[in-house]
Amino acid sequence: MIFNNKIHLVLFVFLLFTSCEHKEKKELRDSIQIIPQPKSIHIDSGAFTIDKQTVIYTNERNSFAADLLKSLIEEKSTFKCKIKIKEDFSPVEKGNIWLFNEGKDEQDESYELLIKESSLLLYANSNKGIMHGIQTLRQLFVDAFYSDVERQSWYLPCLQIIDEPRFKHRGMLLDCCRHFFDKEVVKKYIDLLAFYKMNVLHWHLTEDQGWRIEIDKYPKLTEVAAWRTEKNGERYGGFYTKKEIKEIVEYARQRNITIIPEIELPGHSQAAIAAYPHLSCTGKQVEVANDWGVFKEIYCAGNDSVFTFLEDILTEVMELFPSEYIHIGGDEAPKYRWENCDKCQERIRKEGLKDTHELQSYFIERIEKFLNKNGRKLIGWDEILEGGLTQNATVQSWRGMQGGIDAANAGHDAIMSPTSHCYFDYDLKSTDLEEVYGFDPIPGGLSQEKKHHIIGGECNMWTEHVPTEGRLDTMVFPRLLAMSEVLWSYPEERNFDSFYHRVQAHYPILDQMNVKYGLELMPAVIEVEIRDEQAWIIPKTGHSSIYLRFKWENYPAFKPFDANLKLVRSGAFFVQAYKDAKPYGNPIRQIFEYHKAIGKKVNYASAFSDYYKAGGDFALVDGKTASTDFRDGNWQGFSGSDLACIIDLGELTKISSINANFYQYSNAWIFLPKQVTYEYSLDGKNYFVLGRIASDIKPEDRGKIIENYTLDFDSKEAKYVRVTAENIKRVPDWHEAAGSEAWLFVDEIVVE
Ligand SMILES: [Zn+2]
Repeated sequence: MIFNNKIHLVLFVFLLFTSCEHKEKKELRDSIQIIPQPKSIHIDSGAFTIDKQTVIYTNERNSFAADLLKSLIEEKSTFKCKIKIKEDFSPVEKGNIWLFNEGKDEQDESYELLIKESSLLLYANSNKGIMHGIQTLRQLFVDAFYSDVERQSWYLPCLQIIDEPRFKHRGMLLDCCRHFFDKEVVKKYIDLLAFYKMNVLHWHLTEDQGWRIEIDKYPKLTEVAAWRTEKNGERYGGFYTKKEIKEIVEYARQRNITIIPEIELPGHSQAAIAAYPHLSCTGKQVEVANDWGVFKEIYCAGNDSVFTFLEDILTEVMELFPSEYIHIGGDEAPKYRWENCDKCQERIRKEGLKDTHELQSYFIERIEKFLNKNGRKLIGWDEILEGGLTQNATVQSWRGMQGGIDAANAGHDAIMSPTSHCYFDYDLKSTDLEEVYGFDPIPGGLSQEKKHHIIGGECNMWTEHVPTEGRLDTMVFPRLLAMSEVLWSYPEERNFDSFYHRVQAHYPILDQMNVKYGLELMPAVIEVEIRDEQAWIIPKTGHSSIYLRFKWENYPAFKPFDANLKLVRSGAFFVQAYKDAKPYGNPIRQIFEYHKAIGKKVNYASAFSDYYKAGGDFALVDGKTASTDFRDGNWQGFSGSDLACIIDLGELTKISSINANFYQYSNAWIFLPKQVTYEYSLDGKNYFVLGRIASDIKPEDRGKIIENYTLDFDSKEAKYVRVTAENIKRVPDWHEAAGSEAWLFVDEIVVE
């Protein structure tokens, strides 16, 4: 804090002139539920009254803040509130609100709020600080949010808050490309970010599936690239005109939100290539993508006209966005086209580059020089570290924390948004409210003297599966509240129980702000444990305030769990969570298969992936089957290798059928096996083939497909069962990610 002596003296005099004689108003104290938690808060007795006599005094630097405060007060009041400009600072005059921006340091976000019975004083060194103070006041105006009654007077609890953020970069990425959100939704999010003292909107404006920003020089970007034909034939898209963007940028500026535009390159550029095919390596006409994933059509790195195009685009982008940073993406650029392009290969030779990774570095560096020359800085996703980092780039670390560590160690700034905590497109099973709250942007392994390179963090809202504003709200809230507090405060100042309590108080506020917030956590998780070759169903609640009931399909009513359940039957199992005696979320459904291999030992010839291990060694014999969601935690994955495993049944067992589920979702590089072979053995040495099965489904078939490979046979006595499923190994040539390792996903191996 940088309050000077003069101000402290004034505050001291101010304190002498005032006293809080009213008896304490408990309800006012209870109303103090601020998110993010201020650095220091001292609550006094008594209250300050706002009524028709109240005047907002402000020095001229705060006219927007004063207007905002006035409109907040007047929104639900019977009276009007006056604003008076006053440059000298003498808050001894009673009964009024004083906003004083000393204007010493525009980057200083700290503020001090002092509410006494006689006066309300908000002091800061910048507009940013004043606006944060106004947001704190908004959160103290709980009456406005809880009630529709128009008031003749308002009460605010007497208190003193001294506050400032830990990180200077506190952002949210909004993807307006996979799905388009109109101007009003973007403004609503700017308001919400400001309300929670975030200060960056990272605006994702170009993608394979749509180009969203009007560029005068290249009209086809909005005529062609902004629109895609969906699989059902419908036309989908939209874009922001320059006029709208200027309006949004100004709206954000007034609320201290910096908008950082993201123009993706060299990958995620299929929409632009659809409009201007000469930008790609092949020059062939392609369509704006109507599917999700990573696409091989990227800008050609050997073609100078690509750089002319991008510099023209960035010139118009910089005219619209005054931000210090421009985000250029740089992620997920498959090198397939570059490997097979004469121009790209010529560039590699001429520039003395080693490979296509260095060609990507060349590409980024050339763009960075252009941005730097125009007084801007470049941010890119952590892939820009591959092939050597450019001069001054700031790295946004998303594939874990390592990108941030590498960037900081190399002396670069980093913004942390690892998938582990910051991906709000992930469901609550991966990332619930408490998980987000547990995030610390400073990586554990980073040395003390490098920590200052971590300038903050962002939550990322990708919208492949978020077609509407309501869905957007459900994914972002309440998790954004946790991100806000994580980026504002220090770990030692945080307490989840306190935060959780405050979150409850914010729901009525969010209701008033028309936010369709979602759940805080998975209400229930159904786990299975193997003990003594038995499977036990273990229900787990996401929070101690939640309790669970269960039923099997076709049973009329849910009943309480009194102990862990032993699995003794097949079928659909439902768990319903309850909170405050009311159902919390929808019932969770889990299909169980009860069979002869449950809990038996499985020996693997090749290891399953650490990323998709499901339940580990017992995943294929735990009775719990996987769903069409490949991230549901039940699929076991093998990257580039076969499944080859032996189930030890322990004793001679009569069997007459084996089946297993496999999965295909080519967008995620997961393919069905070429062939599945089932064998049995009596001694574990000599195996006899029971049958081989292939599927009619081809690798080209799109969608999320579960295929069951069933073999029925004349009954046999067996002690061992061997299952071999042949991975196609490489992603086929027609695919966007051609040549990458293919995944094989398997779940329960059912032996009957
Ligand atoms: Zn090329």
